[in-house]
Amino acid sequence: MTTDSIVSMEQETHHLLTLLGVPASQYNSGNLAVHTPLTGEVIAHVPEANTAAATEAITAAHKAFLEWRTVPAPKRGELIRLLGEEFRAALPTLGNLVTIETGKLLSEGFGEVQEMIDICTFAAGLSRQFAGLTVPSERAQHRMMETWHPLGVVGIISAFNFPVAVWSWNAALALVCGDAVVWKPSEKTPLTALAVQALFERAAAKFGGVPHGLSTLLIGDAAVGQQIVDSPLIPLVSATGSTAMGRAVAPKLAERFARAILELGGNNAAIICPSADLDLALRAIAFSAMGTAGQRCTTLRRLIVHESIYPTLIARLKKVFASIVVGDPRKAGTLVGPLIDERSFHAMQAALDEARSSGATITGGERVNPLGDSLAFYVRPALVEISAQTEFVKRETFAPILYVMKYSRFVDALTLHNDVPQGLSSAIFTTNLREAEEFLSVTGSDCGIANVNIGTSGAEIGGAFGGEKETGGGRESGSDAWKQYMRRTTNTINYGHELPLAQGVSFDI
Ligand code: NAD
Repeated sequence: MTTDSIVSMEQETHHLLTLLGVPASQYNSGNLAVHTPLTGEVIAHVPEANTAAATEAITAAHKAFLEWRTVPAPKRGELIRLLGEEFRAALPTLGNLVTIETGKLLSEGFGEVQEMIDICTFAAGLSRQFAGLTVPSERAQHRMMETWHPLGVVGIISAFNFPVAVWSWNAALALVCGDAVVWKPSEKTPLTALAVQALFERAAAKFGGVPHGLSTLLIGDAAVGQQIVDSPLIPLVSATGSTAMGRAVAPKLAERFARAILELGGNNAAIICPSADLDLALRAIAFSAMGTAGQRCTTLRRLIVHESIYPTLIARLKKVFASIVVGDPRKAGTLVGPLIDERSFHAMQAALDEARSSGATITGGERVNPLGDSLAFYVRPALVEISAQTEFVKRETFAPILYVMKYSRFVDALTLHNDVPQGLSSAIFTTNLREAEEFLSVTGSDCGIANVNIGTSGAEIGGAFGGEKETGGGRESGSDAWKQYMRRTTNTINYGHELPLAQGVSFDI
């Protein structure tokens, strides 16, 4: 099919899926209807995994793990290098599909695939660096060391807004660590997941000898996720989504002593100090608050502005919020695409209604209809001026709403900043060294990510990603996040002829 002959979103989607190697049987039949937020129309039907199929897949993954763990780590890294090559070759195709399925801008769709390529590069290098420690023993002719071993099957549950990158952050690390993976993507974005699975299979075929079931996809709703959470064959579950989801899965994992990486909701803030470079801050605020239509876990949701610069900044922000182009995310010039669905739109309107009745001043927030399609939900981002951080501000509403507050003393700005249940990402805009350092210090931001003169969103894969409090405490991607995907053993070796006991204990028989 040529681009000229494409007549509908459905056909375009099927064309991309074919290019990515997904068989038609995986998207043209089945119970799960997939909608594109661009127009709201149905673009595919996908079969869901039933309980028996999920059990079978988890058992196969466990068997695959038993084999894969014996493959030397640098060889496992070669599989991930090949996977990265598949992603590189598929970047525009998969990036387009991400845009169709999530509504994010093309540059963001492409950026998401770039992130997958980057984590594969990181993980391939990491496969030669799973170094343990050697520790001095208190006993003569003894040596102590730590060894890292593969852990088992890793369950991955992901959200709609990063439908493929989150899988790669987890899977690239898990696979080089010697684990198998079972993935339940969001039921709103199964098509990009099917494409990623097809690309994995291409890489696996090139590698040769990959055990059956090493990476499995289970499409379905929360019930399939629960099966992963409950399976004794899965020692680690990495779950990304709302805090409500985390609240449901965390106790179940704790009950069976499974490990959890929880990447949950955020309520991210930036403090704008009197000395801030306002041009730079304005650009950072615009991208962090309105990018991806406010549907990033790291989206900027609260702005805490010093009273001396408040009138200037708010005037400039109002102009930007009023003029930003909302529309088809595939068109050049568009900066804000659609919300994922109607539910999301109503949640946004409910939050704005609460703000309105509390006396807030609201600019924007209304529905716009750039494509003339009543099934799609495009909104103008909302700027909401508030006098106090009341309860509705403390909730994450997954939509482009920026609450703006004033402060006069820096210490009060920090208090406001931390006074929410979530703790994912944060930023300060200042050229004052003392303020910047205090923000990053023990008495500053309580978030997992704290930035200076950079917005809250758009993290790089090299750092550990995650947040505190109701954000769940998980860390994934770079730094030493890999350690969660392995088990550590401490070994003590006696190469002498005596048996001295630790702590000088004597036990002569
Ligand atoms: P969601 O919680 O509705 O769903 C996320 C995933 O969890 C889906 O796959 C869903 O089917 C599954 N799920 C839901 N309930 C479950 C249960 N009881 N047991 C097992 N699985 C269950 O979230 P969403 O609407 O897809 O995504 C938006 C949310 O995700 C926002 O709150 C956002 O902040 C958060 N998010 C967080 C991060 C992060 O890294 N912290 C990244 C992306 C998104």
